[in-house]
Parts: sequence; structure tokens; C-alpha cells
Amino acid sequence: MKAWMITAANKLELVESPSESAGEGCVKIKVLKSLISAPDVNIYSGKAGVALPVCPGGFCVGMVIETGEGVCDLKRGDRVYVRSQMSCGTCANCRSGKSWKCESMKIRGYSCDGFMRDFAVVSAADCIKIPDRVKNDEAVFIDYISIAVQAIAALDTDKGDYIAISGAGTLGIILGQVALYYQAVPIIIDVDKDSLAAAKNLGLYYTVDAMETDPRTKIFHITGGKMAERVAHIASAEMSVSRSIDFASRGGRLAIIGRSGCVGTLSCSLKNAVKNNLTITCITNGAKNDQVAMNMLVSKAVSVLPLITTEVSFNDIPAAFAKEDSIIRGHMKTLIRYD
Ligand SMILES: [Zn+2]
Repeated sequence: MKAWMITAANKLELVESPSESAGEGCVKIKVLKSLISAPDVNIYSGKAGVALPVCPGGFCVGMVIETGEGVCDLKRGDRVYVRSQMSCGTCANCRSGKSWKCESMKIRGYSCDGFMRDFAVVSAADCIKIPDRVKNDEAVFIDYISIAVQAIAALDTDKGDYIAISGAGTLGIILGQVALYYQAVPIIIDVDKDSLAAAKNLGLYYTVDAMETDPRTKIFHITGGKMAERVAHIASAEMSVSRSIDFASRGGRLAIIGRSGCVGTLSCSLKNAVKNNLTITCITNGAKNDQVAMNMLVSKAVSVLPLITTEVSFNDIPAAFAKEDSIIRGHMKTLIRYD
């Protein structure tokens, strides 16, 4: 088995290891597609400060090539998406079937090995079967869609609610589409023109360029003066949480969204949140929404393929990392193919 490992800052090495077979409750998969995302680049540049070596790549579509003892719902040849969060399987929450609340959750490609490798052995419980109508290049975004669905639910979003989304990166744009599906009205705010243009192309009609205009004033006008009932702050956005707090209406709700373990320092003043009586919630994963997310791809409620702006082969991964700045800016995603 071959894996790209980040062994030191700015250093990727191809490491070969003996073949591994699927143990009890596990499947062995051939990795078919993965994505390069911001945490990968932050580990590579040394900014993330995680334990090395680590194989990057949190997102994975694969094909089952071997099943271990006790696996009955997956078979050889099935296409699967593997969740980016790896639950322990042994804590109280995992044992009661609530693996998304695992007390020692690990993030693949961050706090444990990810998928920039040819084969992987994973727990069958972490795999979701991909229906025929969903392409591999779409399914690789399942975690983003699940977390967006979780955000809409946690914000208790109603039909017709304005939802201000701070950050038009991959997650922000997907969240905007999910908000439209639930008949809310997304207003997406960013400082990057290209990302806002991509959001507009995907049907998000209210875009706010925070470099050109004061977003608070613009949101005031769009909402007829009442401000947004719901605000989603994407943790990796180039905006402060304090600013997002000011987008909310009195008594509104604010969600801060970022994968647990992948978020750096987030400081803010809560003065206006208290003044406006906001409810604040934090969302770190997509809970049990993978099937809902898959259905949204089947029904074309969410469109993700336009977010893929670059495609590289497994062998070209180091070259892609070398131009890190260009591959993670805004909404743009680099897809990895393994052929
Ligand atoms: Zn657990």
C-alpha cells in the first residue's frame, strides 16, 4: 500500500507499507477520489501544528474490495463514502449508536491518517453506500452537505427566514444551497469576488462583497431593516465572529461552524450578542445527516461539481501542494483521482 505522508513542514513523502486486510467489522477500500482542503494545506505548511507524520486528505470515495467478518450490509464492488470523522466505537455514545457524539472523535487527515493513499481499511460503520445516480465526484462532498443540513437544523431555520452566511468558501456555498432547499433566504458575505460569483452562479442571489460595501448596511436593506433571523459563521472565513454577530436580528440565532480540531483561535466580543439576546450554537460535524445529504445529491437539490476547479492525479499530489495558495482560496477545490 502506498501513502503520501506529511513528514515535516513542506515535505510530502511516498511511503510504502505491507498490504493490510480487513479485520472484524471493517472493509478494505480502494480509494477512488479525494479532495485537498484547507486543513491539509495548513498541516503541510506547518500552521496546523498537528503530530507528524500524517497522511492528509479527510474526504474519500472508495470501492470496497474486501469485507471483514461481521460485515453484512456492504459487499465487494460497492462504492462508498467514508465519513471524515472517525469515531472510537467504544465510548458510551458510540455504544449507544450515537457515534457522531463520540467522546474521542478523530478527524481523518488531521488527527489520524487520511486518504491520500491507494488503499485503506476502515470501519464499515463509517461507510455510506453511494447510489447509482450519484457520481464519485459529487459524493466526495457528503461531509460538507451533512454539516450544512445540521446547521440549518441547529439554527431552527423556518421558511422565509433570512440566513446570513459569513464565508463563501465551499461550505458557505453549499450551506446557501441547502438553505434555499429549506426555503430560507441566504445572504452570503465574503471578501473574495470570485467566490461570490461562484455563489451567484449556483443560485445564491443575495451576495455581499465586504470589501466594497458595509455588509451590515447591505443586510439591513435586503431584510427591510430587521436584519437576519439566522446567521452562520464559517470558522475558516476571512471575517471576525464579532462582525457576524452584528448581522443578526434581535433574538436571533448564530451558529459557528467548523470541524472540531481543525479550528484555530476564534476570538470575539460578545457584547452585542448579549445586547441583542442571541442564541449561539457551535456545529462541528454533520451528525447523522449523511443519508439526507446523499438524497440531496440524488435529487439535485445541491450542486457541487462547479466547486471543483482543479483535478490532479495521485502522483501529482506534491506538485498540487507546492502551489498551496491557489488551491484553497475561497470556494475552489482540488479533486484527486487515483488511476
Ligand atoms: Zn466513541
